[in-house]
Amino acid sequence: MKIVFVASEATPFIKTGGLGDVIGSLPEALKKEKQECIVILPNYQDLKSLETIEFITSFDVWVGWRKQYCGIFKTQLSGVTFYFIDNQQYFQRSGVYGYDDDYERFAYFDIAALELIGHLQIQPDIIHLHDWQTAMISVLYKEKYKQFQYYENIKIIFTIHNIAYQGKANPMLIDDMFGLSRELYENGNLEHDSCFNMMKSAIVYSDIISTVSPTYAKEILTLEYGEGLEGVLRLRENDIYGIINGINIAEIYSKTNINIVENYNRRNFYNKKRINKVALQKEGHLPVNESPCIGMVTRLTWQKGIDLVINQISEIMKLNIQLIILGTGDYDYEQTLLHLQNQYPTKLSFQQKYDEGLAQRIYASCDMFLMPSLFEPCGLSQMMAMHYGTIPIVRETGGLKDSVDTYNEIEKTGTGFGFRNYNAHEMMNIIKMALQVYNNDKPIWKKLMSSTMKVDFSWKQSAKQYLQLYKR
Ligand code: ADP
Repeated sequence: MKIVFVASEATPFIKTGGLGDVIGSLPEALKKEKQECIVILPNYQDLKSLETIEFITSFDVWVGWRKQYCGIFKTQLSGVTFYFIDNQQYFQRSGVYGYDDDYERFAYFDIAALELIGHLQIQPDIIHLHDWQTAMISVLYKEKYKQFQYYENIKIIFTIHNIAYQGKANPMLIDDMFGLSRELYENGNLEHDSCFNMMKSAIVYSDIISTVSPTYAKEILTLEYGEGLEGVLRLRENDIYGIINGINIAEIYSKTNINIVENYNRRNFYNKKRINKVALQKEGHLPVNESPCIGMVTRLTWQKGIDLVINQISEIMKLNIQLIILGTGDYDYEQTLLHLQNQYPTKLSFQQKYDEGLAQRIYASCDMFLMPSLFEPCGLSQMMAMHYGTIPIVRETGGLKDSVDTYNEIEKTGTGFGFRNYNAHEMMNIIKMALQVYNNDKPIWKKLMSSTMKVDFSWKQSAKQYLQLYKR
């Protein structure tokens, strides 16, 4: 089967969050299942790892009335072909998202990706789309391209990585940028809450919709998690699937990772982890001592439960622990955490940056990893932490619920600690319970670490499930 992924980020080239990890890993895992995979990405200025890139061709594309240049570059990585769509006006700037003309940039990208598929006569069986940035390809395909040679019989799958970001725009864009009829807005196909809504459009137009964990697939059908799209999702309930993400074990393999001070495995983790912890304490300017160390690696947005941590910070700081937070994001959270770090310099280390090496050192070196998310479609950080025997403390939602087997006090088993409601006191109680086991029951703690490290988070199983979906 030939599968074309169109997405706005992919490791090792560019990443702002979990989406980048998924597009960097899933095609490779499908390749191992003997499928042909192609990935189409924008040619951002900040792309990394581009040693062998070659120019293939160029053509013009129409973004509504705008005639725009489209250059195509190509590279191969682990058996997967990557194409990069080049246009200086749209992609020669720093970073990935957050510009006023993002809708125009990704409208251009969507149209250019479909044009590329025709120009290079790729004739895929499946086009796999990801989040709002590529959602409109489903509409463009069904309303325009499907009738032309090289585009016949393609099936479209749309994966929701995070329903909070929907691409809500002015309906003017429908004809002005996508060159589609406004009738599609008037008849409700592209309209939601008096807005043009790209994610809703893909839910209407795609053959299959998937999301990144079984629990999130159920949650988004509800008022609490659907972000307003629960109604349209329920209409397509029979076409919605939840497949949990994996992690790229080769990239972070705890035995060989060059980013961490002392590599370890399931047999020697206990002492080696302590060596890493000392190094992390030094790096985070925290006193080197035996206090349990709790880590967080996160985008600083309302989704991630930072409010619960800030709300309880004076209580948390009374505990005999250290807390190290790596993250960037909303200005208010950054400022509050900087302020709190000044207030508690020996217990709280806030690393305000994006640093993949430090992220790995936190996963590998802390004793516990905190992820109290309000909602979490899948979450990869907890899996990476668990891979290193760092015990997760999570809110039981979305992929956190699916990936962490919460501690059973009677049997003394599990792979982490969980609390159910988005409530600061519940979170505190669970942190205290984890500390209690850590401090008073070392053999059980070691057993938990060992069970956590044993969990198979590789992409193999998930890739097989995607393959089933494609076949369907
Ligand atoms: P989301 O996609 O919602 O941000 P995930 O847990 O699915 O959350 O994925 C987050 C990814 O981004 C992980 O690979 C994590 O290590 C990485 N990450 C998040 N913040 C940072 C940061 N400040 N520095 C380095 N890596 C980060």
